[in-house]
Amino acid sequence: MGSLRECTRILGLDGYRIEYLEWETDGPRARLLIWLERRGVRGYACSGCRRRTWHVRDAKPRTWDDLPWAAHPVTVIYLQRRVRCRTCGIRTERVEFADAKARITRRLRQVIGLDCQSMPTSHAAVRHGVSWSKARRAERAFLAEWDRARPRRRPRHLGADEIHRGKRQKFYTVLSDLVHGEVIGLAPERTEDSLAGLLTTTLDARQRAAVEAVCTDMHRPYLNAIATELPKATVVLDKFHVLQHAGKALDEVRRKEFFRAGPVMRRFGRGKRWLLLRRWKTVRGSKRQELQTLFAANRRLFKAYVLREQLDRLWTYKTHDGVATFLFGWLKALRWQRLPEMEKLADLLVKHFDGIAAYCDHQVRFGVVESLNTTVKAVIRRARGMRDETMLLLKLKWATARPIRSARDLTRFLEFI
Ligand SMILES: [Zn+2]
Repeated sequence: MGSLRECTRILGLDGYRIEYLEWETDGPRARLLIWLERRGVRGYACSGCRRRTWHVRDAKPRTWDDLPWAAHPVTVIYLQRRVRCRTCGIRTERVEFADAKARITRRLRQVIGLDCQSMPTSHAAVRHGVSWSKARRAERAFLAEWDRARPRRRPRHLGADEIHRGKRQKFYTVLSDLVHGEVIGLAPERTEDSLAGLLTTTLDARQRAAVEAVCTDMHRPYLNAIATELPKATVVLDKFHVLQHAGKALDEVRRKEFFRAGPVMRRFGRGKRWLLLRRWKTVRGSKRQELQTLFAANRRLFKAYVLREQLDRLWTYKTHDGVATFLFGWLKALRWQRLPEMEKLADLLVKHFDGIAAYCDHQVRFGVVESLNTTVKAVIRRARGMRDETMLLLKLKWATARPIRSARDLTRFLEFI
């Protein structure tokens, strides 16, 4: 029958032909049942060891959901054999178009898995007419397969960061490859053990040996973990974390100068926190005027603001001496200003001088650290309540690696058999 041959061609499952088609029900969107049979049988492959054999024990029809034909959802049915394998014993026959034990074909799994990366799982499940758990399993298999096939890179620069999980669950430790801008590992808590565990389990010895620098904040447990697991790597302190401390110090100055100085000053300084924390170059127009009035009212706040603004320059020098000279000048400008909060910040900078100056030798991409942070937070927020950490890590890897950047990438995922 010619038409069945055409249908086989449309179906496009290598090595299979359509035996016959039937409708599950009547109606415009009825499910299409497609009975398959192998063509050119050269024995049946064992699902355990892939060895072919003719020893068939029995056969049972099994069904898999497949890609729809226009408006019709499709189920393929195949008489799957159980074979008697010489090495494995009694096993089911290997079916090329689906994973073992999966109830959907591999190509449908790819489509669902891909959709799940840009919409909630429940949405993708409805779209493809499968249950939520089926969609979730498909997504998981899709991501795991993608992750398994990826090359294992040797990152020169690593990033170790803590991500807030929410009130009750506290923190995650996230390890990332800063050269390629990808998440590598995820661990609960932010202890020395969590980072040390990540460094030893997600990276092998060769990968660890390639690490030249680790970008992190001043969190002591992390510094300890890096010192023990990667003794040859340099710690580069994250610029944004350092500047965050500076912002906090500045805010303390504001509080002290306005809020603890009587009701008149308090009214004057109210609602200026965010304005003050912004960088001068991003403040425009009337807001600039507002800041200037604020500074006119309090010189000490002005001084603190200027000192904070100057700190940016710590990361513009090429040599340790340059950084040291700048920091020395900065400390000198701070003297006699009676700004204890800023002096505390100065102590911190001096104490962590090595970590700051290390940027001269290892130009870690701070922008990547920030953008990774944003992506990770967004994924965790969207997946809130997700208990499955393996799944969360896979999703983070996908979101940060962004494997689909062209039509060709997309085809590679969809034409996967
Ligand atoms: Zn076998």
